[in-house]
Amino acid sequence: SADKERANNVAKIKVAVRKRPLNKKEKAKKEEDIITINSNSLTVHERKLKVDLTGYVEKHGFFFDAVLDEDVSNVEVYAETVEPIVPLIFQRTKATCFAYGQTGSGKTYTMQPLPLKASQDILRLMHHTYRSQGFQLYFSFFEIYGGKLFDLLNDRKKLCMREDGKQQVCIVGLQEYRVFEVETIKQFIEKGNASRSTGTTGANEESSRSHAIIQLVIKRSADGSESKPTRVVGKLSFIDLAGSERGADTTDNDKQTRIEGAEINKSLLALKECIRALDSDQGHIPFRGSKLTEVLRDSFVGDSRTVMISCISPSSGSCEHTLNTLRYADRER
Ligand code: ADP
Ligand code: MG
Repeated sequence: SADKERANNVAKIKVAVRKRPLNKKEKAKKEEDIITINSNSLTVHERKLKVDLTGYVEKHGFFFDAVLDEDVSNVEVYAETVEPIVPLIFQRTKATCFAYGQTGSGKTYTMQPLPLKASQDILRLMHHTYRSQGFQLYFSFFEIYGGKLFDLLNDRKKLCMREDGKQQVCIVGLQEYRVFEVETIKQFIEKGNASRSTGTTGANEESSRSHAIIQLVIKRSADGSESKPTRVVGKLSFIDLAGSERGADTTDNDKQTRIEGAEINKSLLALKECIRALDSDQGHIPFRGSKLTEVLRDSFVGDSRTVMISCISPSSGSCEHTLNTLRYADRER
C-alpha cells in the first residue's frame, strides 16, 4: 500500500549534526568559529602547536546523513528529522529522537520544539486522515537521574520499570495523560521542565546530569471505539540526553558527582552500542547495558526508527568536546 511504501522510504537510522552560532560570551573571549559545512560534510579546523610553538591547523573531516548549519531554523530541523516519521507511528512504528552533545551545545534548544510540532501533526492526522478510527494520543514526561526514574508530571514520583513477556516496557506508576489539543502539550512540557533536577547548585548544572524523556503514544481499541480498552499502536520518544562531557565526571572530588558521571558514561556508551547494533541489522540489541537503553527496549525492536541530532558549539574553546561528539555520532565508528 502507499503507507507501506512511504514507511520503507524513511531510513531506519538517521544521524544529523546541528551547529549553533557563536554566542556573546565566546565572541567576547575572541573565540573563533572552527567549523565549516559543505552540504553533508563537516570539517573541524583544530589549531595546534608544534614543539617549536609554531601554529598549524589540523583538519578533521566528517560525513553525516544531514548537517544543519547555524542558520537552519527549528522548523527546518523538525522537517529534516522527525516530520517524516510521524505518519509511521500510526502504522505500529516506534521511533526515538535523541539530542546528544556537551552542555551548552544546543540540545534543549533543538529538542524542546520537536514534541510540540510532532503532536500538532499527530492531532491533525487523527482529525483528518484517521478521523473516527478511534486513535488516542497520550503524553508522558520523565527523567533518568543517577540511574533512577522520576515522573516530571507527578511531583517527581520515583518510578520503576517492568518488562512483560512481549518485549513491552512498562514504567510502573508513570502518569500518562490523554491529550486532545496542542495547548495542553505545551503546558505539560513547561510543567515537566520546571520539575527537572535542580539539586542545590542551580538548574542548568544539575539538569545536565539527567536524561529527560518525553513520550507521545498512540493507542487504539480493538474495534476503534472510544469505550473499549486500548492497545499501544505506536510511540514517539524525545530524549534530551545528559551533557556528554558529564560522562567524564568520574574523577570528580564529590562522590555523588562521580556516581552520576559513571552512570551517564555507561548509558551513553550503551546507547551507542544499541544504535550500532540497529545499524548493522544485528538481531541482538544490547539494551541491558543501562537504565536508559532498558527504558527504550521496545523502541529498538520491530519496526523502529532512530534519529540522533548531535549538537555542537562552533567555538575553538570547545574543539575537544566537539570532536568527541562528532566521533560518537559517526556511524562508521
Ligand atoms: P544544552 O541543552 O545542550 O545545554 P541549550 O539548548 O540550553 O544547550 O543552549 C545553550 C544556549 O545556546 C541557550 O541560550 C540557547 O538558547 C542557545 N542556542 C542553542 N542552540 C542555538 C541555535 N541553534 N541558535 C541560536 N541559539 C542557540
Ligand atoms: Mg539542556
